Amino acid sequence: MSFGKVARRLRRACGKIMTTMTGCVFCRIVGRQQPARVLYEDEFCVAFEDVNPRAPVHALVVPRKHIATLNDSRETDDPLLGRLLRVAARVAGDKGLSGFRTVINTNAEAGQTVYHLHVHVLGGRTMRWPPG
Ligand code: AMP
Ligand code: ZN
Repeated sequence: MSFGKVARRLRRACGKIMTTMTGCVFCRIVGRQQPARVLYEDEFCVAFEDVNPRAPVHALVVPRKHIATLNDSRETDDPLLGRLLRVAARVAGDKGLSGFRTVINTNAEAGQTVYHLHVHVLGGRTMRWPPG
């Protein structure tokens, strides 16, 4: 599929208005109202360094659009969710990693602390399994 077609699908998924949530730290980073070490950004998502890294490489990939948790994503978000994973792989590659871990914590039981959907990209050390 051409990039143009993918971009059109993503635009449809994101809607005309990029919704933001007042007081959401990741919306503030996306809006450049809060500083972050940005590694990658495009029309749909932003990747930046985690402020409290749990591995030598620890980045977060977030959609520009505010989606609180994976449970709050909709079928129309499918292209956007795919984009987040592709960007995660790109960020890992840019960091020189061929092996890395991607994590999405959903709700408190899984350790989610920031309620704006994000994909963790972790690498640069041996990852244990299962995670704690
Ligand atoms: P989670 O616990 O899965 O919700 O992950 C939230 C992540 O966001 C944690 O790893 C935090 O260290 C990270 N985090 C929180 N605030 C910031 C910030 N201002 N800049 C970068 N990372 C942040
Ligand atoms: Zn947000």
